[in-house]
Parts: sequence; C-alpha cells; structure tokens
Amino acid sequence: MVLNQLCDLKKERQPLALQDMPEPRPADNEILIKVSACSVCHTELDEIEGRTPPPLLPVILGHQVVGRVVDNGKQAKQYRVGDRVGVAWIHSACGQCDFCRTGLENLCGEFRATGRDAHGGYAQYMTVPEGFAYDMPSVFSDAQAAPLLCAGAIGYRSLRLTGLQNGQKLGLTGFGASAHLVLKMVKHRFPDCGIYVFARSAEEREFSRELGAVWAGDTIDEPPQKLHCIIDTTPAWKPVVEGLKMLSPGGRLVINAIRKEEFDKDDLLKLDYPQHLWMEKEIKSVANVARRDVAEFLELAARIPLIPEVQKFAIEDANMALLELKERKIRGAKVLMID
Ligand SMILES: [Zn+2]
Ligand SMILES: [Zn+2]
Repeated sequence: MVLNQLCDLKKERQPLALQDMPEPRPADNEILIKVSACSVCHTELDEIEGRTPPPLLPVILGHQVVGRVVDNGKQAKQYRVGDRVGVAWIHSACGQCDFCRTGLENLCGEFRATGRDAHGGYAQYMTVPEGFAYDMPSVFSDAQAAPLLCAGAIGYRSLRLTGLQNGQKLGLTGFGASAHLVLKMVKHRFPDCGIYVFARSAEEREFSRELGAVWAGDTIDEPPQKLHCIIDTTPAWKPVVEGLKMLSPGGRLVINAIRKEEFDKDDLLKLDYPQHLWMEKEIKSVANVARRDVAEFLELAARIPLIPEVQKFAIEDANMALLELKERKIRGAKVLMID
C-alpha cells in the first residue's frame, strides 16, 4: 500500500494505493524481511497530511513491523534466514555523533525513520540495517507483537521521561494504542501508582476503567487529586493546557506526539502562568525511540506478559484502518495482516 501524494484525509478517503513495487534488495549491512504484520500508527496520519512529510514519494509507510528474515546482505551476520524479527520507528542513525555514542540515537541529526525516510512495512517485503532489528519474544503472535514496536516502545520511553515513582499518581490524557499499553506497564512495574485517564470518548474511558484506571473523565474534568505526572498522547493542545492545571507542584507533563495539529492551537492562549506553569511544573516532549527503549520494552512486555488488544485488517484495507484512526474509532491497536 503506497503513498503517492500527500493529502487531506477529510477530503481524500483513499490516501494509499495498492500497487506493485520492485522487491527490495538488502544492502551489505541489511536484512531482507518478509513482512507478516504491521501495526497502524497515528504518525502515519501526520505523514499523509504533511505534518511530518516523507522526503521522497512514493513511499511505503509503516514502522511497527514483524516478519521473518529471508535474505542477508553480504556483511549481515546477526540473523539467520527464518528468524522472526521486528522493526521499529528508528531505521538508522549515524552511529558516530555524541547522541549516538551515548544511547540517544533518537536525537541524532541523521536519524532516519522507518516508513518515512525509508520504505516501511505496509508491504510484503522490506529491508533494514541488521543492527536496527529486534528479536521478537515468542509469547507474542505476529499481530500482538507489532503494536509493541511503536505504541509500546514509545510509551516506555515516555514513562521513563516522566520519572514516575511507585506510589505516585500518573495521568494519561488520550487513551489510544500507546496509553493502554502504558497503563498495563505501570500496573506491573509500579503497582501502587493510581492511574487517571482523560479521554473524550466514553468508550475509551470505559475501556480504561476495565483495564484498571482508578478514575476516568473527559479532557476537562478535574480528577479528585492532583497528579505527579501526565503523559499526553493526543494530537491536540487543549489536553496540554488542561493537563498542566491538574499537575501537583513540581509535576511534569510529557508530550508523546511527533506533531500537534493546528485546529485548537488557540487554546494555548488560555495558558495562565500561576495556574498552569508556576510551582516548578515542567513540559517535556518525547522524540522517536532509541534502540534501548525498544529492546528493554520488549523484554518487559514478554515478562509481564503484556498482550496488546488488537484489531486485525487485511493489508488491502489499510485506508479503512487509517480513517478509523483519524476518526478516533479506537479499541486497542490496529494491525495490518500480510500474506
Ligand atoms: Zn508510531
Ligand atoms: Zn548520530
């Protein structure tokens, strides 16, 4: 399923086209993967609508990929044909800069993203440098493993950046694929933390309560207590402003979004310094993922085990999955299945 041109999803209902592309060949340090499952991410909407546009078109989207190695480049030795591997948002980085050398390759100036700067997993085959593939724990089926690679891994990084300690109160504003995995992760790692969920849709609130949220309300509802930290996974600004108000002194709000949309940017003008920022409150964003996040998260997910709720689509129905995501018809993670 190929993106040939950027478009507005409110007008264009078929952003991707089913078409043949030449089978990719692995470069010397790459592996060739036969894809079996690829999860759908909100970032794909940002790419299609031009908020984080692919530098070259046409491009194959998709950065939560599970498949099997079918060929090795001349110097690729890490995997054998038949091994099951995963590919995440980070497709490569320079390996030389200060960021890369200190495990912060997510911040590298030459960071390349899977399914944006290189072809991704909405396809039968893809290539990736061998050092940027991951062993997939056997407790997960292909469909269950796919959403762990972005929603889960970036959720793990967001949680790391909140600095949450056991016993504290965590807010989640927005309750899609990433947030529901964070909730499950927190319940395992920090069993004494209360989780407070803000979501616009009653379905999402209900879902969060089923999974163990102690409280769930609308974006603007006030929880019974102030929160130590909040992770925002929405594309909007209002939840940021509202979230800051709900933090306790010294609290931190972590924005887990690659881009924000423009429609409610005016809400930022409601930012009131004493109410929203004073008392040493912080805002921080999450950028990409480092390999360490993906690898550590997969290990943790297998130990829990953290089995994501998935909704499967045939690869031909990628457009439908994307539109449902755009329209926030969400219950767990959407996964494209590829034969
Ligand atoms: Zn993603
Ligand atoms: Zn670098």
